[in-house]
Parts: sequence; C-alpha cells; structure tokens
Amino acid sequence: MPMKKIQHFIDGEFVASESGDSFSNINPATGREFARVAEGSEIEIDRAVEAARRAFDGPWSAMTLGERLDALQRVAHGIRARFDEFLKAEMRDTGKPRSFASKVDIPRGAANFEFFANLARTVHGSSFQTETADGRGAVNYVTRQPLGVVGVISPWNLPLLLLTWKVAPALAAGNCVVVKPSEETPSTATLLGEVFKDAGVPAGVYNVVHGFGPEAAGEALTKHPDVSAITFTGETRTGSAIMKACAPQIKNISFELGGKNAAIVFADADFDAAVSGTARSSFSNTGQVCLCSERVYVERPIYERFVEAMAKRAEALTIGDPFEDATQMGPLISADHQRKVLSAFKAAVAEGAEVVTGGSIPEVDKEFAEGSFVEPTIWTGLDEDVAVMQSEVFGPICHITPFDTEEEAIALANNSRFGLCAAVWTNHVQRAHRVAHQMETGLVWVNTWFLRDLRTPFGGVKLSGIGREGGRHSLDFYSETKTICIKL
Ligand code: NAD
Repeated sequence: MPMKKIQHFIDGEFVASESGDSFSNINPATGREFARVAEGSEIEIDRAVEAARRAFDGPWSAMTLGERLDALQRVAHGIRARFDEFLKAEMRDTGKPRSFASKVDIPRGAANFEFFANLARTVHGSSFQTETADGRGAVNYVTRQPLGVVGVISPWNLPLLLLTWKVAPALAAGNCVVVKPSEETPSTATLLGEVFKDAGVPAGVYNVVHGFGPEAAGEALTKHPDVSAITFTGETRTGSAIMKACAPQIKNISFELGGKNAAIVFADADFDAAVSGTARSSFSNTGQVCLCSERVYVERPIYERFVEAMAKRAEALTIGDPFEDATQMGPLISADHQRKVLSAFKAAVAEGAEVVTGGSIPEVDKEFAEGSFVEPTIWTGLDEDVAVMQSEVFGPICHITPFDTEEEAIALANNSRFGLCAAVWTNHVQRAHRVAHQMETGLVWVNTWFLRDLRTPFGGVKLSGIGREGGRHSLDFYSETKTICIKL
C-alpha cells in the first residue's frame, strides 16, 4: 500500500512542498512510520501569508459578522460529523488513548468554534461622554478591528484542542490565519482544512504549513512582515526564540508556555477525591498536559497514606494499545521524548530520589514493543532545588513532599520559575481562598483539576507565559481597539 501523504493546505487547496521535501509521521505506540508529511519552508509560508492577506482584504472581510460566525458554526458541526476520523487521526499521531481523546481533544476542538462564534455575536464596544470647556462636550467610542493575518504555532500534546483554541477566536475576530502545527502531529490540522472547505469558508481564511521550527517554516512565520501577531503554545525556550524573532517588527504576541505545577493536599481534604484528582493531574495524557502536577505537597498526618494510595492508582493504570477502550495510558509522543523522560528518571535517582513506583519502561504487547512507553512514576525524598524538581519533565511523574504548616506549603509551591497553575485540596473554606490568593500562578483549582470554563482567562505568570486568552480576553488579543473622539 502506498504511504499516506499529508500536505499543506494553502489558499483552499492541498499542496506538496515546492522542494518536494517531506518528513515522516510516526505512530508513537508502534514506533512505525505511517505517513509522509510535506516539509514546508519560507516559500510555503510566503504563499500561505499572501493567500491569507488576499482573503482578509477580499471575501472574508466582505462577509457580515453574522455570515462569518455562521461559517464557524458550520466548522464546529463539520468536526462533529467527522468525529471518528478526527479521533483516529489524533490517536495515531499522538498515541493518546481513545478514553482521553474522545472526551477531551475532539469535543473541545468543535466546542472552541461554537463557543467563540457565539461569544463574538455578543461583544459590544463602549462609549464615554467627555466634558469640554465650551460646554458642548465630546463623545468617545471604542471600536474593535481585526489585526489582519495571525500566525498560530501549536504543540503536539493536545493538537486539535490547542490549535482551535487560537484559530477559532482569531477568525471570530475577523482575522485570517496561517497555522504551523507541531511536526509531530500534522494530521488533525490538515483534516480541519477539509472541514473548512466543506463549510464553504473562503479560500485563504485558514491555511496550514507543515514543517519544523528553528530556521524553517515556524521561524519564517514569526519573521514574516505581513503577519501581525503570533500566538504560540509550547516550550518556554521556544517562546523566548519567537519573542526575539518578533521583536524587530514589534508584533503582538500571546504565549502559553511550560509549567512545573504544584498540588497542595491538606489533611482536611476529602482524601479519596484528592488522591483520584491528583493521580489524574499527574498521569493524564501520559503526563503531557501543561497543567499536570509534577510537584505534590501533602500535609504530614496523611502523607504516608497518600503516597501509598497514589502508588496503588499508578500501578492500576492500564497501559498499552491506544485504540483499546480499556487503555488509560498510551505512549509518550516520540522515542526522543521517551529518551528525555528516561534521563529524568535517571537524574532523579542520581539526586537521591526514592522511587515509590515506576521508573522504567513497562511491559506491553509485542506489537507495541517499539512504542515510546514509560511507567507512571512517583518519587519522594528529593531536595526542592535539584534540576528535576525545577524543570518540566512532561511525562507521567510526580514527586511527593510532606509539609507541616500552611505557610510552608505556600512557600514550597511558589518555589518555581514557572507559574501556570496550582491545585489545592481542602475542605476548609477560608483556607481554600487564602491559599488560592497566594499562589503565584495564572490559574488555581480548588478540589478539582482541569475544569475549564471557556469564558475565563487562561495563561501563566513567570516563565509560563505572556497574556491571557479565553472568553473576551481572546477577542481582545485578536483585535485592535480604536478610540474615536467626536467633538459635539
Ligand atoms: P515546542 O516549543 O518544542 O514546539 C511548539 C511549536 O513551536 C511546534 O510547532 C514547533 O515546530 C514550533 N517551533 C519550535 N521552535 C520554533 C522557532 N524557533 N520558531 C517558530 N516555531 C518554532 O513545544 P512542544 O514540545 O511541541 O510542546 C510541549 C510544551 O508545550 C511543554 O513545555 C508544555 O508545557 C507546553 N504547553 C503549554 C501550554 C499552556 O497552555 N501553557 C499548553 C500545552 C503545552
């Protein structure tokens, strides 16, 4: 059977690279190549940006707001109508199990379009009456205008979810987009091109260029003079490189970056809920969610029991074939990432960690022997300042530390260069508020984790990002506001 080909989607058409170059798309559960992906360069970025600009200057802006938002609703329906195709494509690219992708990735992909289409219908401006010395006064009113062409650079961990989280509000605000998906996960972004075509969205509104980041398609997008803004989700050091590339043109940027998130569990918490919530927050998506808790702090009276219960949870996880309904944990994204996570396992032990459970490669069926699997792993006994406690592992791991006082727990949780989110488990209402207010993060969950309301601002502090997206904060980023003052 000929190898499947994944192409760019530029100006409403699926196209190969002018160079003819391609790279391989590997299923991380089997380690086998299953598709060739067109490798784009500056040439394809130029074409895509030109197409986006033409669509922006022409048909997209000529449509009424209502027509544009109806088109985005049709995209949401289109994703739902092809749910299984999206699901299989995401599972093959990432190795994530059906139990996760069918509940999180694909439904949120559709929901993002629906939500922002609805929200943009209700956004309104503001006006101000101004007094003047001559008594006639003036009125100021504020309008929103789209930016033009927005560049979207997305990661591999929640490919469709994180891409649509940016594409949907960018389009709802009236922009056109050029997307550079992660080289690890090109499939659902491409499938979305078919949905846009079927939904009757004008050519050039949504463009996809595949390829790599540094000195390649990703960097070309960040440097393109006709791209007004870059919205990026990924590693902190990539954010830093993109910021440099955007600096000469003072481009608008919005960054959702890495984390080293803490969970704090007080002795007064609902014990079972705290254990199952923390296990979910450490091991979901094989630990590859930016919001995962890699550092867990537990009040001393329940510490031993908590560590034991977490280990039981980790050991009970069913690891293996992502396509099996019963599978709870798939592989990591790639053999490269598996090597990185295994080296963190080694580093933790070298720093004196006690391995409560895990720490190596699990046994899986023969068919998956070349897959990038690792065991869910729990450590105790590490010093708070060692590298593995201060940098993101992005695997199914957590370290559990005991604490004695609320102040100590807060100080431990905040001892990080990152500040994306925190989880606090307690049944004491004042403590919940007190601790949440003192977390140096953009998000705090109390007695839950990863419960999202798309109206709320999302983003991190410190090295975890710049800006907030979500609800009207997204529309703020993807629009330019303009004040018009009229003397009466
Ligand atoms: P990554 O930074 O390696 O890559 C992300 C994207 O950037 C890819 O498309 C890549 O090709 C591109 N890229 C890389 N270098 C570039 C450059 N110089 N110029 C332009 N583009 C470039 O990240 P990843 O490994 O794909 O994703 C995992 C990371 O993302 C983790 O650190 C995770 O915490 C973070 N993340 C953060 C959030 C959040 O909301 N804060 C959400 C998900 C993931």
